[in-house]
Formats: sequence, structure tokens, C-alpha cells
Amino acid sequence: MTTRIDLHTLRGQPVIVGAGVAGLLTALHLGDRPCVLVSCAEPLGIGALPCGVAAALGTEETATARAARTLQNSAGLACLETVQCITSAMGGVIDTLGRLGITVAAGTHDSGYALHAALLAAVHARPTVTIIAPAALRRLILVDGQVAGIVIDAAGRTITLDTDAVILATGGACGLYNDALVPASAIGRGLAVAARAGAELSDLEFVHFHPFALSLGNTPGAGVAIPFSLYGPDALLLDEQGEKLEGQTSNPAFVARAVAERKAAGHAVFLDLRKIVTSGPPKPGSVLASFLSLCHARGIDPATQALPVKPAAAFHIGGIRTDVSGRTSLPGLWACGEAACTGFHGASLCEGNALLETVVCSQFVATDVLGRITPPFRDISGIREDQSLPRGLLAVVRKALSTSMGPARTQDILTSALVPIARFAEYDDVALIAEMMLISALKRQESRGDHFRSDFPTAGATARHITLTAAEVHIAARLIARDHPVAWSIDGAPLASMLNS
Ligand SMILES: Cc1cc2nc3c(=O)[nH]c(=O)nc-3n(C[C@H](O)[C@H](O)[C@H](O)COP(=O)(O)OP(=O)(O)OC[C@H]3O[C@@H](n4cnc5c(N)ncnc54)[C@H](O)[C@@H]3O)c2cc1C
Repeated sequence: MTTRIDLHTLRGQPVIVGAGVAGLLTALHLGDRPCVLVSCAEPLGIGALPCGVAAALGTEETATARAARTLQNSAGLACLETVQCITSAMGGVIDTLGRLGITVAAGTHDSGYALHAALLAAVHARPTVTIIAPAALRRLILVDGQVAGIVIDAAGRTITLDTDAVILATGGACGLYNDALVPASAIGRGLAVAARAGAELSDLEFVHFHPFALSLGNTPGAGVAIPFSLYGPDALLLDEQGEKLEGQTSNPAFVARAVAERKAAGHAVFLDLRKIVTSGPPKPGSVLASFLSLCHARGIDPATQALPVKPAAAFHIGGIRTDVSGRTSLPGLWACGEAACTGFHGASLCEGNALLETVVCSQFVATDVLGRITPPFRDISGIREDQSLPRGLLAVVRKALSTSMGPARTQDILTSALVPIARFAEYDDVALIAEMMLISALKRQESRGDHFRSDFPTAGATARHITLTAAEVHIAARLIARDHPVAWSIDGAPLASMLNS
């Protein structure tokens, strides 16, 4: 833990919150500019990065091909300009990392942890980066609608940092699900802090579910996934009676739904890789080799047993609405990585794009922060922290989201999850993000990309984003709670207009 920091020396420095790939890279891209890095993880970021994330870097795919694949996969919702901007930068990613002293074994599948470790070492070696950890972001301070500081909890103290530039790199909210492949701490607190300050959040209903998390217990965040690319013709997906699930498909969202539906019908589901695993030794550095070593380390042998699987939340496509430079709707607030919603992914995640977006955009964010026109300094020393927010709703929220907002959703189930949660959303961060996700899912009365509504199984005629503020969501939730279980519809109507309905 960092101790004895003179807070006065940090006044005016950009503050980055989060020490995953997004936060660490943004800090490095700020170059000689002194900055503060706040992270709740100690040691920084351990466990935050799954293996396989480096696989997207340095592939031989051209920018044009990746852009085309991204657009096709996005179900009509990706922002063309953003896609072009990010994919056209992908060719230079390995070189850019190299200039920062980070060597990436391009194209291998076991270097995710190595990449994160290298970024951490590089940040620790930078005297210009002041690390405050473990520390948790509490709230933003705004003066005249502009970010003027942040409040963090560190070592049992509440600390206020004066800054006009905050970069949220706090990851997504998949940890709000019981079955998730992310650390249990990824519960969208950064999103909640941004929303409470008035920032717009976008596309929160789009959660990417990995169909093949190993079903070996029910500990939140403990998930291990079978790489989707192993699900080829030689892999069998069946239930405990040996009955095969629907035909092979290359769409993970479709497969996740099939697995969820079979499990909801009371069955266990297994992925049988025995034919693949016993056909010869895997190529070193391949997806299969990495996966087998992960299994062997956990005492699992895919050569002798079919593996029990379940869908698990892996990536939150929605987040704080930003442009490609990470600018949010609040002056002085940027977002980067999974916390941000740049519009790059649209309605569905294309393999490798999460890391690509993070690595490319962290540089754009840093450049934008460095180039900003600094507003006049505002003294916030007189602002006092408000009273504690109630905690402890996490288990309730996890249960509600897991049962209502999985790979398949309906209005009735979403509504019944929303009503009890909404009562706490004005005071509790996880309840707020769950409320915003549920309202977004209710509002999207169609099926598109990673969002499937059993009651609206086809895509609507027009692809549109759902962008909300916390204030709008509270109003909508109150109205729904008041009218529940009366039939209602908010699709297409501005939420504020419902006040008069
Ligand atoms: C199983 C799995 C496989 C994946 N495979 C791939 C892949 O092959 N290719 C790919 O491109 N992407 C992949 N991804 C996605 C990719 O790993 C993530 O998108 C990426 O790691 C997110 O980085 P991040 O820095 O934005 O967030 P994170 O890594 O989640 O880091 C967030 C940081 O913020 C900190 N934090 C959070 N809240 C607070 C707070 N309130 N106060 C202070 N600190 C806070 C956390 O402690 C953490 O350090 C995969 C994801 C999963 C789950």
C-alpha cells in the first residue's frame, strides 16, 4: 500500500481510477505529465485480466477486414466512425506498446497475465505516477457542471483530491451476476459514480455471455471459461441424458442462450472435448495448450471427462457514453476500457475487440487529457463528504440480475426484478447500475446482438442506442413500480414524458 502521500503535491493532476489494462496504459500514455492512479485492488489489478486477452494483438488480420467483421457483428449498432478510427490504429498497437517498454508475444494465447504484469511494472517504474491503493472511488465533485475533484476511501480515510480531469477505467458490471468470468469486484461502481454525477450511460442492456464457463461451484467471480474457438465439429454439447443441444453455431450469444434454456429446464449441460484432446499433443502456445494447462492446474482432465458448463457474464458492452477520445457527457470526465461505451462494439462483442478498443483508446484518452484547455482552478477544500450510503445489497442484486437479465429476457421477469431493486437505487451504487441495466433491457423491445427478448424475438426496423441518465431512470422506475403489474410500454417514448401519463 502507498503511504505518506502529500496530497497537496497532487493538486491539479489528472486522476485515473482503475489499474486494469485501460488505467495502466492511460497512465503510461500521459508520459511525463504527473498523474494519480487510484485502484481498489491490492496488489494492483491481480486477477483482473483473464488469459487470452493478448490474442487479439498482432494478428495478421487487416484493419479493413477487422472493421468489416466488427460492423457485421454489431447488429447494426456500431458507430462507423469509431470502428474506422479504432481499427485503423490496430496495426501500430504492438509498436506503441514497444515504445512504452511493453513486449507482447503477438498472437499467443497465454500472455494476458504477462501483458498486465508488464504494464504494472512499467507504471511502478514511472516516478510521475503516484499510486494510491487500495483505495475506492466514492464520488465526483462538480462545480458549475465541471469535474473539480474526486472523493476516495483509502486506508480507512476519506480523501478528496482536487482535479479537473478524472479518467474512469473501472471496468464493467459483469460482477453483478452470480455466474461471471470477471473478478467479483467488477460491480460497476465507476459507472454508478459517473451516473450519480449526471453522466449519460449507454447500451447497458448489452452483456456478452460466454456459453462455456466451467460449472464447478457457485463462487462469484471464480469462473474459468472454455475458449469458444474449441467449439468445432469435434466438440459435443449435450445434456446429462446425452441429448445434443441445437446444431453447431459460430454465434456465442446463440449458444449461450441454448445452454441457459436447457439448464432452466432442469438439465445439466456438458461440453465434451475428448475427441479433440486425445487426438494428439496441442501446439505450444495454442488456445488448446493454454486451456489444458489451466485445467490441469485445477485438477480437471478434459481427456477423460465431459466438462460441465453454464453461461457466464464476460463483458459489459454498455457503459459510460463517450466519444472515441473517452470524453463523457460531463466536462472533465473521461472513461476508458470496459467502463466506456464508445459505440465500437454495437450490440455484440467481436472476439478480440475488447482489448483492441482498450489499448487503442487509452492512447486517445491520454492525448485528449493532455491537450485539454485547463479551466480556472477551483478550490474545493470547503466541500464536505456526504453521509455513508447503505451497503449490503449486492447479494440481492446479483440474484435479481442473474435470474432476469441472462441470455434470454422477458418484460415480466425484468419488471419483477426491477421493482424491489428500484427502491434502493437512489442510495446504493449496485442497485443504481442494476436499475439502469434493467430499464435499458425493458426499453429495448426487440432482440439485437447480445440482447435477446423472448417476447420480442426479432430485431426492430431501426437500430438505435438507449442512452439514459440516473435521473431519467429513477423516474421511469418509479412509474413502473407504481403501475406494476399493469401492462405498460416505454419504448420509443421519451422517459420524461411518462411523468404526465
Ligand atoms: C474470460 C474473459 C476472456 C476475455 N478474453 C478476451 C480476449 O480474448 N480478447 C479481448 O480483447 N478481450 C477479452 N476479454 C475482455 C477484456 O479482458 C476486458 O475487456 C479488459 O480486461 C477490461 O480492462 P479494463 O482495464 O477496462 O477493466 P478491468 O481489467 O476490469 O480493470 C478495472 C480496474 O478498476 C478497479 N476498480 C473498479 N472499481 C473501482 C473503484 N470504485 N475504485 C477504485 N478502483 C476500482 C479494479 O480493481 C481494476 O483494477 C475477456 C474477458 C473475460 C472475462
